[in-house]
Amino acid sequence: MVNAAEKYREIRKALAEARAFDAEFEAREIIKEYTGELHVSSAELTPGAVSVIDEVVKRRMTGEPLQYIFGKWEFYGYTFYVGKGVLIPRPETELLVDIAAERLNKDSVMLDLFSGTGCVPISASIKTGAKCYAVELYDEAFSYLERNITLNRADVTAVKGDAYDGTLFGDMKFDLITANPPYLTGDEMRHLMREVSFEPETALFGGTDGLDPYRAFIPAWYPRIKPGGAIAAETGETQGEAVSEIMRAAGLTPQIIKDYSGLDRVVLGIR
Ligand code: GLN
Repeated sequence: MVNAAEKYREIRKALAEARAFDAEFEAREIIKEYTGELHVSSAELTPGAVSVIDEVVKRRMTGEPLQYIFGKWEFYGYTFYVGKGVLIPRPETELLVDIAAERLNKDSVMLDLFSGTGCVPISASIKTGAKCYAVELYDEAFSYLERNITLNRADVTAVKGDAYDGTLFGDMKFDLITANPPYLTGDEMRHLMREVSFEPETALFGGTDGLDPYRAFIPAWYPRIKPGGAIAAETGETQGEAVSEIMRAAGLTPQIIKDYSGLDRVVLGIR
C-alpha cells in the first residue's frame, strides 16, 4: 500500500529529475486531481488511483503539458477543457478579462479574435454580462470553444472564421475587441520549451518578428470599433512599442499595460 504523501514525494522527485518547470506544484496538482482531495494527506491510495497516477506521470515525463493530460485547466476562476490542438490558457492572459471588466457592462458588445479555448470571451461575458462573440478558425480549437461555452453556460456566440476578415460581422460595431494572437518570433519558435512544442504552431507563430498578426488584424477591424471603444491585444514582452506603433498607424491611441511580472503584456488602443 502507498499513501498520498509518499506518492507525492515519489512524483516530485521524478518530475524534478525530468526538469519539470515546477515539480512541487505539479506533483501536488496530480495528487489532488486523482484523489479528489484539496490537500495531500497520508490517506491510503486505492490501486486504481495508483495506476491512473502512474500513467499520468509517464505521459508527463514525455514533456506533454499537465494541462493536456488533465484535459482541463482553470482560468480566471473558471474551468476550461483543453487538449491537443488548442492553446493552454495562460495566467497573464487574465489581464484581457480585467480590461473587459473595466470597460464593459451588460449592454456592451465584445468581440474576441483568435479565441482558442474561449477563455477570454467566456470569462468576460460571465464577469460583465456583455454580449460576446468569439472567432476561431481551426476545427480542433473551435470544438473546444463550443464545449467551453456550454460547460460555463456563457452567453458567447462562437463563429468559425478568419480573424483577419473584418467583414465577418457586416457593419456591426463593438465596444471592445480582445485578441491573443500568435506572436512568437521565428527565433522563439526554434527554442520552444518542451511543453510548448506540444501546442499548435498556428496559435504560437506570428511570423519572423512575431508581429504579422497585428499588422493584419488591427487595420482590418479598426472600422468595427465604436467611437470611444478599443482593441486590447496581448503581446510578447518585447513587442509593446511595436504594437503601439501599429495601433497608432491604424488611428488608435495606444497604452501599454504590464502583467503581474512587470512585463509589457497588453496594448490597449482606444478609438
Ligand atoms: N504566451 C505564449 C507563450 O509564451 C504565446 C502565446 C501566443 O503566441 N499568443 O508560449
